[in-house]
Amino acid sequence: MTDRKVSWRDRFGEEITCLRCLEVKDSAEMDRLLWCKECRLAARGRATKRGWMIGIAASLTLALWIWLVVEPNRALVPGGWLATIVAAAWIVARVAREVLFGVERFQNRRAAEAVPPSLPPEADA
Ligand SMILES: [Zn+2]
Repeated sequence: MTDRKVSWRDRFGEEITCLRCLEVKDSAEMDRLLWCKECRLAARGRATKRGWMIGIAASLTLALWIWLVVEPNRALVPGGWLATIVAAAWIVARVAREVLFGVERFQNRRAAEAVPPSLPPEADA
């Protein structure tokens, strides 16, 4: 009998090939999908960037809707509308980031971050 906790990593050796960048890395860096830390951060960064684009697009749509449909009069505080638009951008960006990251994790495309080995210099010409 052993007190050592059984881990999914036990099935693999010390080094595991990352499914995304195809680089062999220490098993401690890997998660259960066999993505290394750099690949997780890259996917996270991409999801954050796209999430903000969606968030800003959604908040601009909201601003247009407020401007054209709600037609705020001058008696209302413009700062309140501005805060609503900024909050909408932030919330939509966060939600979109999580959804985009989740989709990328779910799809789990192989070798998506892999860089092909560079050709020798004479082969370029
Ligand atoms: Zn990787």
